[in-house]
Amino acid sequence: MRFNPISGEWILISPDRGERGDYFLKEKEDESFGPGNCPFCPGNEGMIGKIIYGIKDYEKLAGEYLLKVIPNKYPLFTVEQDKISYSVGTYDYHSTVGAHEVIIESREHNLKLSEYSDKMWFNIFNAVKERGNDLSRDIRIKFISFFKNYGFLAGATMKHPHSQIVGMPVVPHRVTEEIQRGMEFYEEKDRCLFCDVLRFESESERKLFVTEHFISFIPYASRYPFQVEIYPKRHSHNFFEITDVQINDLSLMLIKIFQAYNEHLGDIPLNMVLYSCPVNLEGPMHEKLKHINLFYHYHIKIIPRINKYGGIECGFGLHVNPVAPEFAAKVLKGEK
Ligand SMILES: [Zn+2]
Ligand SMILES: [Zn+2]
Repeated sequence: MRFNPISGEWILISPDRGERGDYFLKEKEDESFGPGNCPFCPGNEGMIGKIIYGIKDYEKLAGEYLLKVIPNKYPLFTVEQDKISYSVGTYDYHSTVGAHEVIIESREHNLKLSEYSDKMWFNIFNAVKERGNDLSRDIRIKFISFFKNYGFLAGATMKHPHSQIVGMPVVPHRVTEEIQRGMEFYEEKDRCLFCDVLRFESESERKLFVTEHFISFIPYASRYPFQVEIYPKRHSHNFFEITDVQINDLSLMLIKIFQAYNEHLGDIPLNMVLYSCPVNLEGPMHEKLKHINLFYHYHIKIIPRINKYGGIECGFGLHVNPVAPEFAAKVLKGEK
């Protein structure tokens, strides 16, 4: 991991993954893994090695796995190394100590995101919670998250339904940025910035769906067309403290969102990413963020990958969104 002192972000250089030859966007899906030779399909457990965590079904499947968590075969972060950090001239280097796991979400190879059941989502987020709480016991890990790449244009290399859990030794740039803004807002106004946004969006035309514990909306300044964010209604900085009742409710929310995408935009490629508070903060960082429970608010971003990025996005970080958020909300609610 290398730190850019000018942009203030850590960049992960991973040439090993590049050597796999999958770093160019492919227009067509890679069909090299069909149900017969897919390592994620039931019966092919010999191809994946150890199972870190699993949920079994005893009612219909005689104790077979419904969901499995395994180590990523091409990990960005691994526990089997030391935490090493040093300077390289003007720059900073950090070893990629951490964790990178894959959740095999379903027994079925060909399952669209819009076809997931509430039970499946419950199992997925339960696995995220269990694994996250386990990984947080490794004090070298400072940030734990969950993300999903759906579709080859969104970065998925396997078709079989899966997502990923990652534990990182540093807090990524987009998260530190949000934390910093949340902290400054709190210092000035004595309230949570995210709670303010949530309250405003719950009355706005960009509001999508509301469940008992969550609200989803298209952000006022969305980076991406049809981007959706999900916030817990009750202030909470740490996703990993979520209760079973809340996971159940979140599952219902995800079903609404993915069915709306499918109905109005089709089976589009997308990323889903969890933003939760950092963990195991020490020293000055711990001191600085000791009240993070007051000013950070966990949330989930869903990012459709339906437009291309040019020089203005990649060069300046200035995202051009071709779809007005208010229009996007109408489309997803079936009002347009
Ligand atoms: Zn499969
Ligand atoms: Zn809040």
